[in-house]
Amino acid sequence: MRILFKNGFVIDGTGQPGFRGDVLVDGERIAAVGALNGVQADETVDCTGLTVAPGFIDAHSHNDFFYDYDDAEKYYKPFVRQGITTQVTGNCGFSPFGVAADSKFKDKVGGGLFYAKKPGSFGEFVERAEGKLFVNMVPLVGHGTTRISISGYNPAPLTAAEIAEEMKLVDEAMENGAFGGSFGFMYEPGIYAKRDELVEFAKRIAKYDGILTVHPRACSKVALGYPLISKPHIELALDEVVEIMKASGVRTEYSHLIFVGETSWKSMEPMLAKFHKLNGEGCRIAYDNYSFTYGASVITVVLPPWYMALPKEERKKPFNMFKLKLMTNVTKKLLGIDFCDFIVAYISADPAHKKYEGKTVSECAREEGLSDFDMYIKLVDLSNGQGRLYLGKYYNDEIINRLMTDDLSVFMTDAWVEAAGTQNGAAYQGFPYFLKRAKDNNIPLESVIHKMTGKTADRFGIKDRGVLKEGGYADVTVFDYDGIEVDPSVPDFTPGGIKHVYVNGTAAVKDGVYVTQHAGRIVLRK
Ligand SMILES: [Zn+2]
Repeated sequence: MRILFKNGFVIDGTGQPGFRGDVLVDGERIAAVGALNGVQADETVDCTGLTVAPGFIDAHSHNDFFYDYDDAEKYYKPFVRQGITTQVTGNCGFSPFGVAADSKFKDKVGGGLFYAKKPGSFGEFVERAEGKLFVNMVPLVGHGTTRISISGYNPAPLTAAEIAEEMKLVDEAMENGAFGGSFGFMYEPGIYAKRDELVEFAKRIAKYDGILTVHPRACSKVALGYPLISKPHIELALDEVVEIMKASGVRTEYSHLIFVGETSWKSMEPMLAKFHKLNGEGCRIAYDNYSFTYGASVITVVLPPWYMALPKEERKKPFNMFKLKLMTNVTKKLLGIDFCDFIVAYISADPAHKKYEGKTVSECAREEGLSDFDMYIKLVDLSNGQGRLYLGKYYNDEIINRLMTDDLSVFMTDAWVEAAGTQNGAAYQGFPYFLKRAKDNNIPLESVIHKMTGKTADRFGIKDRGVLKEGGYADVTVFDYDGIEVDPSVPDFTPGGIKHVYVNGTAAVKDGVYVTQHAGRIVLRK
């Protein structure tokens, strides 16, 4: 089937200036780009007044966990709907593969955040996913998963023999086409891994010239597990990433660069300076960022581990409550964040708890006549510590603009569709929101598209995607730049202005209407 995208403003994804022209798709590939007069096609898509770009690439996703769910489509539809055709998956140490056939810990894969239906090898994952995908996936193997396969959530250091076993799991993934690996230093069991194990993992990824994405140990000025008197913890955490990169020589992607809490915002310029200095010295390290000022978190985010470890009856004792209140206040102050920045996303399946969703903890407190602190503890208890929040103050608008125009950034969502509760806006509007910000702030559209497509493909080593060129895969997103519409205050808002989306030459959105397809595939590193 030949499809002609006619008379659009073509932005090819390389960062070069756009031009008026046409794009011809033949089957799953792009056949020609330019002024294509007199070309015959089976179908012509009139793109007058519209921008024709490569399908967007989401540089940081967790969508490798949902593809084999019975209701899989709902986990992908909102991403397709925003123009995303490819997602880099397996981040923050989590992947549904990298698991030994005889592992005793298969049920632990996903770290409590995600659920893998059939954890196994990379080869099995590729086979299972065939024909089931709504978008293309660029898979990374999660270190957390390989460690779970060996020793579950056991905090003990791995022995040399165990590390060797772990490396076999990495080899299996990399030899069969994974693009790299990921660390999650804030999650179990990645949080426990010692330097020798981490460097070994990084070296193994480097051996295949893969990329290593890292969820750092701290994303704020203060974080648990660091000495209080020191430089900002977010900067110490970057030092650790750099040290592993230098010890292993691995290409490194600092995942989701955020600065949680106002007191952390001062770290932006020193950290950007450091990234640029390292690149000047020949290191290959860069980062990705969001378009939203908030992100998903767990409800226990500001609770110290000692409190969570207490038996329930102990928690309510006045002394423990007093100590907790004091510590929570200090943490909030140090972070520059407060209960009015905590948006309740989900408490439990109990219908009586639905009324809290979408409100800040402070708003809930006012409605119930409680103090903010008491309301917060009540919500923690109601959810059994399993609730979810959206945490504000990751950025302000100026910071996002600054990151959007920095050479080393590419764009991502780090969002997934939740089975219940308030959704994460980035899952529905993350990329259109970047377009909106570009328009409102006069950031050149070509550079913004580049960071959603060709630059991301380059960074991760994805061949023949991310650029509109003859021979490339026909992932195409057509949008009305003037008509881009988002509403950050309504998380699951369907963005306006995304007109047509094609995945490997198959329509996924047509005239703004979502179309069911299974044209996505696992992209393999060659
Ligand atoms: Zn992460």
